[in-house]
Amino acid sequence: MKRCPSCKININTDRKTCPLCYDILEDVDDKQLEKPIYPLYVRKKGKENLFLKSVIFVCIITTLLTLIINLVTRKSGERLWFPYVAASMLYVFILIRNCILSKHNTAFKILVQMLSISILVYIIDYFSGYTGWSINYVIPILSVASSFTIVIVLLAKKVKYSEYIFCLISSVIIGIIPFLLWIFKIVPVLWPSLFAACFSLMVFLGIIIFADKATKEEFKKRFHI
Ligand SMILES: [Zn+2]
Repeated sequence: MKRCPSCKININTDRKTCPLCYDILEDVDDKQLEKPIYPLYVRKKGKENLFLKSVIFVCIITTLLTLIINLVTRKSGERLWFPYVAASMLYVFILIRNCILSKHNTAFKILVQMLSISILVYIIDYFSGYTGWSINYVIPILSVASSFTIVIVLLAKKVKYSEYIFCLISSVIIGIIPFLLWIFKIVPVLWPSLFAACFSLMVFLGIIIFADKATKEEFKKRFHI
């Protein structure tokens, strides 16, 4: 650390002269400095924490109340409906925690939304006498929507590819899963999963062809290739 005797400021530099007045700088021992030059940034957490705690509280109370109402008013042989409420409350929590309060980039938020909505629709499908509409139609189409939106954001916002590439590749990989499930005969309807797999492949080729060097480096780093 150096100090300008004229301007009376400390400067973290290798220069010999002051950038403001060109006076000769004096050496200052870092240990003698009483305080760090820039105070450390502390994020104000109080309000966010209280808000999040309130959300958790409301979600849990709502789930418990619906569980009680459901059990008390249930006629024999009738299907339980409280799992829909529980899953929706979980989704509300994820929405607020990871989309509204988080500082993650847009691509990550889209990815989290896609995954949580997929889980939500699967739970609804499962508890409403599983017919497979979630895994046949909704999840493949969601994965296409997610990859498509990330690509649009990437092109529109002119962000660095490397920041978004991890989320985009994850979304693309998820897009192929329904087709793999079709191969193993878990998913009976072909066209949505085939569409999702083709779309994923297209985006993946696009990444390989158009990605710059920094993106490829980031890709190798993230996926340990
Ligand atoms: Zn100076």
